[in-house]
Amino acid sequence: MSTQIILPRILEIGAGASRKIGAMVKDMNCQRPLIVTDKIMLQLGYVERVRDDLSAMNIDSDVFDETVPEPTTRSIEAGVELVKNGQYDVIIGLGGGSPIDSAKAISILGKYGGQMRDYKFPRLVTEPGLPIIAIPTTAGTGSEATRVTVITDDTNDEKMLCVGIGFMPTVALVDYELTLSVPARTTADTGIDALTHALEAYVSKKANAFSDIQAVAAMKLLAPNLRRVFNNGQDREAREAMMLGSTLAGIAFSNASVALVHGMSRPIGAFYHVPHGLSNAMLLPAVTEYSIPAAEHRYANAARAMGIAQASDSDASANQRLMAELYAINRELEVPTPAEFGISRSQFFANLSIKADQALASGSPANNPRVPSADDIIEIYKQLW
Ligand code: NAD
Repeated sequence: MSTQIILPRILEIGAGASRKIGAMVKDMNCQRPLIVTDKIMLQLGYVERVRDDLSAMNIDSDVFDETVPEPTTRSIEAGVELVKNGQYDVIIGLGGGSPIDSAKAISILGKYGGQMRDYKFPRLVTEPGLPIIAIPTTAGTGSEATRVTVITDDTNDEKMLCVGIGFMPTVALVDYELTLSVPARTTADTGIDALTHALEAYVSKKANAFSDIQAVAAMKLLAPNLRRVFNNGQDREAREAMMLGSTLAGIAFSNASVALVHGMSRPIGAFYHVPHGLSNAMLLPAVTEYSIPAAEHRYANAARAMGIAQASDSDASANQRLMAELYAINRELEVPTPAEFGISRSQFFANLSIKADQALASGSPANNPRVPSADDIIEIYKQLW
């Protein structure tokens, strides 16, 4: 059996990679970039630097800086209009997963029109949008190297998973120096997101020899460095490892899949505006505990890759260590419970079956080693509380 692997055409990785933007746009024979970003990138001076680097190559750029965390259909509308009415030939997604995902959606909607819901999974978006250069500033979603975008439908609060080669950036400039400014909370949330990608890709029913290698390499990089970057954001060595780990984790899940954590996480994000990485973190221990019986050896190998179990440990003991570690990470990285985050109990319990239905509809739970029923999902949500 063969597996199709989809990757960006160019990955530029390491300190200063983002400074290659001018040369990259020129090499692509493009002249009119639209930078899709957010206000924080503007404040940090990252947008100006990208524009300066483009100007140095005599390339004029425009900026759409209205993207929001966890982008919605409404938040990208103005960007889509800009593309429809402008002469842009390349889109630069600069920021965390939210601006990059917005850039992906704007690239497709700007070129082909329609509504985002027309493009949601299970439809595969194979048509090429405007080429995208992704410059991630979190380590993170791995969106710079995934064929995925996640956009929330404003009309029903559904976080729509949209998948296909049309959403794969042509180029990713993976520059860990941009992550030195990420605050501790976001560092933790995004870092756990990356670790979850690697773990879910590794245990996914769609795992394959290629994604396994990426996932294991990602876990080796991410697990030992997560606490380091949380405790000291200026730890360059740890930031570099996290950034590479998150790109590899993105490659792993994009070429396998995510699973139950992500399936259950999206409704929590959409209904209560919990940042994506944080809702993953809340769910990771409970979902892992539920799933281990169906893939003991895989989870044990993950524990070994994370450096918390030895090759000589039995699978059972490696998995005990894995569970202890996932709870310890949440404690030490101060991951709140849903209640501590501020979600009311009545709101959380009122729509348990809607959340379960949305989780199942996304398709991700079907890739979990233990495939849950709607009732199982509801039980895990209750357990979270
Ligand atoms: P984000 O992009 O929403 O950013 C979170 C916050 O951190 C924002 O306020 C942002 O301005 C700030 N920030 C980002 N980089 C910073 C920096 N270098 N310095 C200081 N502040 C910075 O967060 P995210 O977790 O990267 O992305 C989340 C989004 O990505 C969600 O919508 C999620 O669904 C999506 N996602 C997409 C994929 C994919 O493959 N496309 C995978 C996982 C998640």
